[in-house]
Amino acid sequence: NVTSIIEHSTEILTTHASNKEMDIEFNAKEPHYVLANPIIETVFTNLISNAIKYSPEKSKVVVDVKEEEEFTEITVTDFGEGIKDEHKSTVFDRFKRVNKTGVRGSGLGLAIVKRTIELHKGDVGVRDNPEGQGSVFFVKLKRYLEEP
Ligand code: ATP
Ligand code: MG
Repeated sequence: NVTSIIEHSTEILTTHASNKEMDIEFNAKEPHYVLANPIIETVFTNLISNAIKYSPEKSKVVVDVKEEEEFTEITVTDFGEGIKDEHKSTVFDRFKRVNKTGVRGSGLGLAIVKRTIELHKGDVGVRDNPEGQGSVFFVKLKRYLEEP
């Protein structure tokens, strides 16, 4: 149930968010079942903690879950500094850091996200936030479809 996994990773990041007076808005109300190892939680923890880290104080992070035919798409939207088009594919590389000044990090988070999603035969990527500044990271995982 990816809903409760995401709820758990947002709980873990509450202090991180409240230190910056940020809200994490999570819009899934019902369980969404996907085919995944419990290790998948690290994907959401990495994406949501990046969203907090690379955003200004008092902004927000929005997490949505949407079911498609075969996949469930989870999006993490922020209103932060955003990622330029030329960096959109390389941010998933090991040790890649775009803005080296300011916030600390090892540049491994997104590489772990990408590898974990690959092992699940899912999909991950980033696009611009259509509402203005910031990014939308999306993850697609195979839905768990019960036998009829
Ligand atoms: P680590 O996660 O290992 O502590 P990190 O956050 O620097 O370090 P990644 O999570 O792999 O590393 O992210 C790689 C780079 O992509 C970051 O250094 C940052 O420049 C950029 N980035 C990641 N997420 C965002 C985001 N939500 N908004 C803007 N830039 C981002
Ligand atoms: Mg990170």
